[in-house]
Amino acid sequence: MTEFADDPQTFRAQIRAWLERHCPPEMRSPAHGEDDICWGGRRWTFRSDAQRQWLNAAAAEGLTVPGWPRAYGGAGMSSAQVQVFDDEMERIGARSPLESFGIWMLGPALLKFGTDEQKRRYLPPIARGEIRWCQGYSEPDAGSDLVALRTRAEDRGDRYVVNGQKIWTSYADQADWIFCLVRTDATAPKHRGLSFVVFDMHTPGVTTRPIKLISGKSPFCETFFENVEVPKANLIGAENGGWTVAKYLLTQEREMIAGRARGLHDGRPLWQVVQELAGDAKGRIVDPILRDRVARAEIDALALTATIERYVEDAAHGHEIGDRSSILKYCNAELNQRRQTLILEASGADGLRWDFVRSDGGEVAPAWLRAKANSIEGGTAEVMLNIVAKRLLDLPAE
Ligand SMILES: Cc1cc2nc3c(=O)[nH]c(=O)nc-3n(C[C@H](O)[C@H](O)[C@H](O)COP(=O)(O)OP(=O)(O)OC[C@H]3O[C@@H](n4cnc5c(N)ncnc54)[C@H](O)[C@@H]3O)c2cc1C
Repeated sequence: MTEFADDPQTFRAQIRAWLERHCPPEMRSPAHGEDDICWGGRRWTFRSDAQRQWLNAAAAEGLTVPGWPRAYGGAGMSSAQVQVFDDEMERIGARSPLESFGIWMLGPALLKFGTDEQKRRYLPPIARGEIRWCQGYSEPDAGSDLVALRTRAEDRGDRYVVNGQKIWTSYADQADWIFCLVRTDATAPKHRGLSFVVFDMHTPGVTTRPIKLISGKSPFCETFFENVEVPKANLIGAENGGWTVAKYLLTQEREMIAGRARGLHDGRPLWQVVQELAGDAKGRIVDPILRDRVARAEIDALALTATIERYVEDAAHGHEIGDRSSILKYCNAELNQRRQTLILEASGADGLRWDFVRSDGGEVAPAWLRAKANSIEGGTAEVMLNIVAKRLLDLPAE
């Protein structure tokens, strides 16, 4: 592994040189949709040699998770160094070598609540893209009110036996392992009887049924557990202490969702995309009202980016983002829905066509429809506002 320098200027030069040498030219353009993204996992088939090379080079250097400790597959960078790495990636338009629920959600929770043995077992395969994870939280009668979940895990000595059903489990049919919230004490107050367990999706008794959407795609599944045996060694955090782990993981999920905002649309600023669709010969957006709305969206995106940067800076000084992730998640959902609407409108009659693809490869109508889920996934907009009101503004509940 490269020994990166502490001095910021030398460090930036080293990262720049490393990227120049290792990031294949084909990986220096934004990902457009699922087919361009590398999710990894046991069943992953690389879309190209360049995708394989890019993942292997980044993983060998700990750069799929630059901020994680080296002992667990990361590069041990400080948050300031991670920021430089991200800047340099963005400068050359490099796409992420690996996207994963393991990196965004489970990894941070393991780093905080896992035993050393659990960190050594689960984190390096996540960093190398060997195991693909899914999230088993929501149930048919437990979404916003997650603590109402009923999937139960019975104590059988050295293992639990899990029975129940999850829903909206993104990519459960493609995942290798699941991190799952289960009820281990049915008599305790709802949030005190939950535990956080992880297990292999190939364990006998686990089945998935993809949910087909109007788009024809199946991004999530119903997931069923029938007498699934889970060793107690797979319990993360304390028994009946799962709500603490789950809540922390949710703040990571919301931070991740918002952190991907950055005011860019498929790697390009919104004004560029709209200009191309609805600009005159000089590239000026013709309709003054549309121009005004694009400008407002760009200003709001800049404000959100500045807020994210401020929170990240706070985090580097030990002040975790915590419940403030709800502000970021809410604003990002609203902003992305606004962006997609502007692109759809700028496309004119073409925007009505399901198969209309912009010149840089972005799908218009499917992306607009997909954005509708932004204010539901990871916690709904109303629930985010409730958290802001109660926990940040300390407003009365009634
Ligand atoms: C694209 C996508 C991917 C997802 N992936 C996963 C996944 O991988 N794993 C997983 O576990 N889950 C996943 N989910 C599920 C998601 O977390 C839930 O849909 C979400 O938490 C809302 O729960 P619900 O669907 O049961 O809606 P409900 O909780 O039934 O909410 C229905 C409506 O009531 C409103 N509401 C509910 N309670 C309140 C309240 N107290 N105050 C005000 N309004 C309220 C909500 O805002 C919403 O408008 C995914 C969802 C989507 C859309």
